[in-house]
Amino acid sequence: MSQDSDRYVIAPPPQAALAVAGTSKLFPVRRIWCVGRNYIEHIREMGQDERAPPFFFAKPADAIVPDGGTVPYPPLTRDMHHEVELVVALKGGGRNVSPDKAPDLVYGYGVGIDLTRRDLQIASREVKRPWEIGKAFDASAPCGALRPAAEIGHPARGRIHLTVNGTVKQDGDLAQMIWNVPEVIAKLSEQVALAAGDIIMTGTPAGVGALVPGDRVVAEVAGVGRLGVTIGPPAV
Ligand code: MN
Repeated sequence: MSQDSDRYVIAPPPQAALAVAGTSKLFPVRRIWCVGRNYIEHIREMGQDERAPPFFFAKPADAIVPDGGTVPYPPLTRDMHHEVELVVALKGGGRNVSPDKAPDLVYGYGVGIDLTRRDLQIASREVKRPWEIGKAFDASAPCGALRPAAEIGHPARGRIHLTVNGTVKQDGDLAQMIWNVPEVIAKLSEQVALAAGDIIMTGTPAGVGALVPGDRVVAEVAGVGRLGVTIGPPAV
């Protein structure tokens, strides 16, 4: 620490990290990338072009909320939505990665929720402003413990679902992804140089909807894991 206090003018911010199932060690998070549209039924419910290629946006690493955590209901919205997503955590990176090499870069997989201030996202979209205020707010990226690919392989199918207060709201299958995980990694690596510590939220199936304070949200991907968070009162 004395070396850090010599080097930096303020204390360095804490390293964002994810739990790894079955170990006390953590996965350090560098960036959070998200796929915009990757399940056809969700594209339809949002009224978007079904043939357009997926696109990417980002959230800050410190938006992560761990399993069992509480998400303070964010300001400025009346329509915060849940989007359950398979999370891919990278142990390596590079540019222009081919889909057949992409699995070699994956450390493991987890379950995440791409929380979205839908009213603000849509307002930004309509006036062609960026999406950060709708997507990249505080505590907007709940993510459960990772499971290493060395243990579970590379899931390409399996139920992905989300319940709110015990009622199923989203229910899909990883096989419904338009762009599979290797293709997502390959596409993103054409746009930025990927690196170890990057995680990717891979898009959501249909059934997104609003959350309110007090809601208990449970997200699950078969063979990968489970994530539970509570929506709390607004942050003060
Ligand atoms: Mn999403």
